[in-house]
Amino acid sequence: ARAASTDPVLVVGLGRFGSAVCESLVRQGVEVLAVDTDEARVQEYADEFTHTVRADATDGEAMRQLGAGDLTRAVVAIGSDIEASVLSVITLAEAGVDTIYAKAISRKHGKILTSIGATHVIYPEHVMGQRVGHMVTGGLSDYLEFEDEFAIARCYAPEETWDRPLSESAVRRKHTITVVGVKRPGEPFTYAVPETVVHRGDELVLSGRIADVERFTALAP
Ligand code: ADP
Repeated sequence: ARAASTDPVLVVGLGRFGSAVCESLVRQGVEVLAVDTDEARVQEYADEFTHTVRADATDGEAMRQLGAGDLTRAVVAIGSDIEASVLSVITLAEAGVDTIYAKAISRKHGKILTSIGATHVIYPEHVMGQRVGHMVTGGLSDYLEFEDEFAIARCYAPEETWDRPLSESAVRRKHTITVVGVKRPGEPFTYAVPETVVHRGDELVLSGRIADVERFTALAP
């Protein structure tokens, strides 16, 4: 059965990554069962997240008692302790959790996680490093890369877009990128429409193929 987006989520590890995942889930109204072997971590978040329990995710019996087998989704947010990360994924896969997101600290770690039952592997440092690399060279204020060579970026509007509507600067035709939103300093984002007039100092949110996005954002002042 396909998991409903509101089904409770098991989060293993309340480090920096795991606690951020829990925060996001709670904000979205999703129930969280967070486990950590460290009592201090469990106490720290007890008031904030739905259920925080001191438990070892590599202990199959403990996970069964917590009802892990009834949960459709889990996030294994253990980074530095690769053994604990691997054993937790195995334990949850064996308990019958369908969808397991697991954080990896290296490609090799990620490969192991995939081979033992993680359905999604996340490389936080790698993803963030790529992002910062683009921000540093491209004058971008933000950058997000997807699979299949697609990216979304935020940058200052290049001069050729100033004081005219997007339909006239024709960036989609000229640069094969799509401007999705425009942000004037001190104002909220607005969706870009052909009539949107861009000014010097505005920021653009745009999408397109990575190479096209890189070429276009290189024009940013
Ligand atoms: P981050 O870099 O996101 O802070 P860490 O790897 O430092 O991640 O933190 C992982 C967390 O996972 C720690 O709080 C640790 O106590 C917890 N943890 C480690 N092993 C287990 C385990 N077997 N079961 C549950 N929690 C664990």
